[in-house]
Amino acid sequence: EGLVVAIVGQPNVGKSTLLNRLAGVEAAIVSDQPGTTRDTLREHLVLEGMPITIVDTAGLRETDDRIEQEGIRRSWSAVDKAELVLYLVDDRHDEHPQDLELLARLPVDRPRIVVRNKCDLADRSAQRLDAASTGIRLSAATGEGIGLLTTAIREFA
Ligand code: GDP
Ligand code: MG
Repeated sequence: EGLVVAIVGQPNVGKSTLLNRLAGVEAAIVSDQPGTTRDTLREHLVLEGMPITIVDTAGLRETDDRIEQEGIRRSWSAVDKAELVLYLVDDRHDEHPQDLELLARLPVDRPRIVVRNKCDLADRSAQRLDAASTGIRLSAATGEGIGLLTTAIREFA
């Protein structure tokens, strides 16, 4: 199954859109409604000749919904099994305290790449220095910057 890569982050940051972009098919349901992805979804694909398994996960957040809670439990289990974690954030927003908390909950030795998604919506002129210098900026929706991520995954593997 090749390198196992998990896509994690808060709801609505574009995790499922990124899976679909990398897989080249509409494997996961994408919607502007937080909580759309409730179960983990695995896609086997070949990325520039490199076999990988990408795991799309439910958005990590506090919730009273029992099914969503189970999805989040499965997401952490996917993180546990992944060799590489893609941690997605919304490029439009400042670093969220919750992101730092979630990143801190990843196993310490688990390699991770911070991906700043939705760069097509972000105001470049308003970009702060730390935002520009942390992680890979891309747009899962338009495909802009996807090559940077593919290269980073290749270099990791
Ligand atoms: P998830 O909850 O993290 O899986 O997020 P989704 O993939 O379901 O996407 C949430 C919403 O953001 C949907 O309306 C997507 O169309 C939109 N979206 C995702 N990625 C991008 C992006 O790169 N640019 C823009 N403009 N919209 C995006
Ligand atoms: Mg999703």
